[in-house]
Amino acid sequence: MGSTRFAPTPSGFLHEGNLANFMLVALLAKSEVLRIRLRIDDLDRSRFREAYLHDIFDVLNGVGLVWDEGPRDPADFLGGYSQHLRLNLYEQYLSELRRRGLVYACRCTRSARGNTGSFCASDCAQRRLSLDDPDLVWLCRIDPGFEAAVHDHSGSVLRYSLLDRGIGDFVVRRRRESASGRCLPSYQLASVADDVLYGTSLIVRGVDLFDSSLMQLWLAYRLDLITFMSVRFVHHDLLLNAAQQKLSKSTGHSGGDGGSLLKKWPNLQALEATLPVQDWARSLGLMR
Ligand SMILES: [Zn+2]
Repeated sequence: MGSTRFAPTPSGFLHEGNLANFMLVALLAKSEVLRIRLRIDDLDRSRFREAYLHDIFDVLNGVGLVWDEGPRDPADFLGGYSQHLRLNLYEQYLSELRRRGLVYACRCTRSARGNTGSFCASDCAQRRLSLDDPDLVWLCRIDPGFEAAVHDHSGSVLRYSLLDRGIGDFVVRRRRESASGRCLPSYQLASVADDVLYGTSLIVRGVDLFDSSLMQLWLAYRLDLITFMSVRFVHHDLLLNAAQQKLSKSTGHSGGDGGSLLKKWPNLQALEATLPVQDWARSLGLMR
């Protein structure tokens, strides 16, 4: 049996956009008889708060969204499922990229590297800076001609050139974190590693993560992660606020805390009546 996942991040309280995503995941899982895993991406500890972690469970349980695999509560998560318990796995992937000559150290500042925080702004690749310097990030060497083969929901394949999408060498390992003293993997690397580990066969995410999907497919191709290369993707629209900006934890549209989100949406029926999940499902041919 294939599987899909809820993949929230405990870096803020959940908002309506997260819930709409979870509901589409649940609809697809039901339609295709997939198992759902709760996968909480807690790699970034600088914005982590226990209250955000509790909020994930409170909201999922509160509205009645169920999952088959993964942690049952915050203590279960911290004890057995945190990404910080899999740093050795991520390290193996990073070592393999290094062994294959696919990474170089970059000393550009995050601001110099631009909005995405990726892409060397100078000539670091030519300078051959030390990969053992923990204060430098690792960028991967993208093949300029690489085309990512993206399987859509129906299994059709569309090819996208990374170059045409403006995707350049991106970060796979961050510089040393002052709190832990460790160099953590990037979101792209950890996300692929987890999806391979858990056997994910369908990824449902917002269209804002489309380029992430392409970068992750490049990583899978270069690391021979065959199962990830046939994962199917659904990239759905984003919910916008009144100012036509996408909802995000940083724009504070969660209503301030998880409790108020639950007051607004006490159950799935209330959510279904308001959120565009049915429209998304119809566009995927799930319902008429
Ligand atoms: Zn650089």
